[in-house]
Amino acid sequence: MGRIHIIDVTNRDGVQTAKLGLSKLEKTMLNLYLNAMGIFQSEFGFPTTRHEKNYLEANLELARKGVLQPMRLAGWLRAVPGDVELAFKLVPGLRHVNLSISTSDQMIQGKFLGRKTREDILQTMVEAVAAARSHEIDSIAVNAEDASRTDLDFLIRFGLAAREQGAVRMRYCDTLGYDNPFTIYDTIKTLARETGMGIEVHCHGDLGMAVANSIAGARGAMDGGQDAYINTTVNGIGERAGNADLVAVILAATKSKGFAEEYPLGDEIDLSLAWRIARYASYAFGVPIPINQPGVGANAFAHASGIHADGVLKDTSNYELYDYLELGRGDSETVETGREICTGEYGGISGFTHVMGRMSVSFADREEAHRVLELVRYANVEAQKPLVEEELLFIARQPDIARQLLTLTPLYER
Ligand SMILES: [Zn+2]
Repeated sequence: MGRIHIIDVTNRDGVQTAKLGLSKLEKTMLNLYLNAMGIFQSEFGFPTTRHEKNYLEANLELARKGVLQPMRLAGWLRAVPGDVELAFKLVPGLRHVNLSISTSDQMIQGKFLGRKTREDILQTMVEAVAAARSHEIDSIAVNAEDASRTDLDFLIRFGLAAREQGAVRMRYCDTLGYDNPFTIYDTIKTLARETGMGIEVHCHGDLGMAVANSIAGARGAMDGGQDAYINTTVNGIGERAGNADLVAVILAATKSKGFAEEYPLGDEIDLSLAWRIARYASYAFGVPIPINQPGVGANAFAHASGIHADGVLKDTSNYELYDYLELGRGDSETVETGREICTGEYGGISGFTHVMGRMSVSFADREEAHRVLELVRYANVEAQKPLVEEELLFIARQPDIARQLLTLTPLYER
C-alpha cells in the first residue's frame, strides 16, 4: 500500500510569488521548522540562480552537520541540460533535483511560438535527466508544468521516458488550478498505474480547490499503486491565489472523514509546530494569517453565537474537530509595553549583549560577541525588520553558517 509524503515548496514557489520574498536567513529558518515537523522534503531554492549559491550550500552544510536532518533538500531547475550543468557547477553538493518543463500544447505553442514540438520537449527532458545522472545524485524527479491541460497519453509517455532515464518521481503540476477533485483523481490514478512512478501532486488555488485537489490527487496516486507526494507551502503562499496550505493539507489528510485509515501519511508529522511555523512565515513574508485559516487562523477555535458557545462549553467536540493544543496553540504571548532594548543593523555591543543575555546566551569573550553582532547587523540589513529570537539564537549557535548565508558574492562570474 502506498503512503503520502509532504514536499514543501515555500522556498521555491512561495518566494517566486509576486510582491513577496524571504531573506536567505528566513528561508533557512523555514527549512529548520519544516525539518523539525518531519516534512519529507523541502524544495529549498534555485541552484542556477547565483545569489542562491551561498544559501543553498550553507543549508547543505547544515544537513551534513546533522542540524538539518533527515529532511531532503531538493533544488528546482528547468529540465534543460545547460541548466543542469550550471546547477552542479554552482552547487556541487546538490543531491536531489526537480527538473521542470512545460508539457501542454497550450504552453508548448504559447511559449515556444512554433519553435518546439512535443517530441522536442521529450528529448530536452530526457537529456536533462541524463545530464543530472552524470553527477553524484540521489533522486531526480521531473515536473510536468501545466499537466492538467496536457494530453494524458503524452503525459504518460513523458513519465515513462523520464523513468527510463532514472527519474524516480513525476510532478503533476496543476499550474493554473484548473483541476477539480474528480478530474485530478482520475488523471493521477491513470498516470500512476501507467508510469509505475510515484506522483507529486502540485496544486494551485485559482478555483479555491488546492487542498481538496491535493487530497484527491494523492488518493488517485495510491489507488494507482504508487506513493503520493503532496506539494505544499506554508500559509498557502504561492503564485496568484497560492498553493495548497501545509497545515490544511496535514489536517485534511489526517482528520477528514475516513481518509487516513486508507491513505496514511508516510512520515511522522509533528503538528504541534504548526502554529509556530505559520506565525513565523507570516512575519517573514509580512502577510497576516487570514482570520479563518484552518487550524492557525485567529478564529479557528473562536465561538460567539449562543448555541455554539454553549455547546463548546459543554463538550468541545460539539463544535471542534480537533484540539488547538494539537497545533501548538494555547500559550499566552507577552508583548513589551514599556522600555525595550533592540538590536539590529546599526546596533552596538552593549544593546546586543543585553538582548542576547535575556535569552541566556553569553559569549566566550568580547571578540566573539562582536563577531556575532556583525552577523546580526548583516541579517537585519537583508531582512529589514527586527530579527526574532529564533533567528538570533540560530546566528549565535551557527555563526559560520550564518556568515555563509549572509554573503551573496560572487555577484558576477569572472
Ligand atoms: Zn506552482
